[in-house]
Amino acid sequence: MTQKVFPIRSARAPAPAHDGPAPLDTLGRSLRDLRISVTDRCNFRCVYCMPRETFDHDFKFLPHEEILRFEEVARLARLFAGLGVKKVRITGGEPLVRRDLPRLIAMLAQIPDLDLTLTTNGSLLAKHAPALAAAGLKRVTVSLDSLEDATFRALNDADFPVARVIEGIEAAAAAGLAPVKINMVVKRGVNDAHVLDMAERWRGTGHIVRFIEYMDVGSSNGWRMDDVVPSAQIVQAIGARHALEPVDPDYTGEVAERWRYADGAGEIGVISSVTQAFCASCNRLRLSAEGSLYTCLFAEHGHDLKWLLRRGGSDEEIVNEVAAVWRARGDRYSEIRTAETAKARKVEMSYIGG
Ligand code: SAM
Repeated sequence: MTQKVFPIRSARAPAPAHDGPAPLDTLGRSLRDLRISVTDRCNFRCVYCMPRETFDHDFKFLPHEEILRFEEVARLARLFAGLGVKKVRITGGEPLVRRDLPRLIAMLAQIPDLDLTLTTNGSLLAKHAPALAAAGLKRVTVSLDSLEDATFRALNDADFPVARVIEGIEAAAAAGLAPVKINMVVKRGVNDAHVLDMAERWRGTGHIVRFIEYMDVGSSNGWRMDDVVPSAQIVQAIGARHALEPVDPDYTGEVAERWRYADGAGEIGVISSVTQAFCASCNRLRLSAEGSLYTCLFAEHGHDLKWLLRRGGSDEEIVNEVAAVWRARGDRYSEIRTAETAKARKVEMSYIGG
């Protein structure tokens, strides 16, 4: 039987008044990074993220009118910047399937001192990289789970070849969106044997591969702890081939643990959200394509902002609402993860973005 997974609708809690520019949550964390999903649709069906059994022809994606318009996104982003957001990552679904995305990038690029980046599966990047860069995008992260073509085609379940993602990475670099970060989600028995090849391919290129532990996001991927390859093993395996040295984080709350090759051939990163939870410094907020705020990647519920936007809420009301949501935040899912919590009904990654 086909199991249907729908995004969980948002709560509309009344917001107490906001009384300062940089709110702290209940664990003393400030807001810094905002991920904005611009669509819940994707042209891939990665088996661990949007399995076809669930995300099939009958799946109800968000209707067009429920998705925030670019003007709405840009207005919210500007208000978030006023609350301390320094970095915005555009995500999805697949953000490059959203028509005319450079127009949104151009609007966001006008916000002063904002680090503006985008995460993509790379399939449409060769086509769009020049326009994205010209619009003011600074960098891109490209997901690529294997260099072995058969494995990659099977993982994306769209028969999409590795070579075209590499073309996208090269086009991004040529357009000035470098260094490109290349994210590989590692799943035991699926692509863990390809980690060393991935590291080797990008060593010395200036691009940065980041190995991500497979996570129990959503409730459609059948996650098991046994599927997770601890990042420490990955660092050890790569370090056994080329000596590695730790690198200090760029800023507090950076999720990737950074390592550089001792011979100067560049750096790699690992994101250990399962084996070394980084909730204590998590400064991330997520805005779904339909305008709901999520204070954790593993959240069960969001907070609807669109109703406030569309009923003519003032900037002050919106800022107060966001600040109230942030102040009430106490999420630390990865620190308290168990086999039982992993089964909970959480928001899907394709809905909220990575
Ligand atoms: N379509 C874009 C892309 O492919 O980068 C953006 C959205 S995608 C949901 C963002 C990232 O989440 C991708 O790198 C993807 O591999 C990662 N991801 C999805 N499910 C995951 C899981 N269960 N564990 C770890 N990473 C996951």
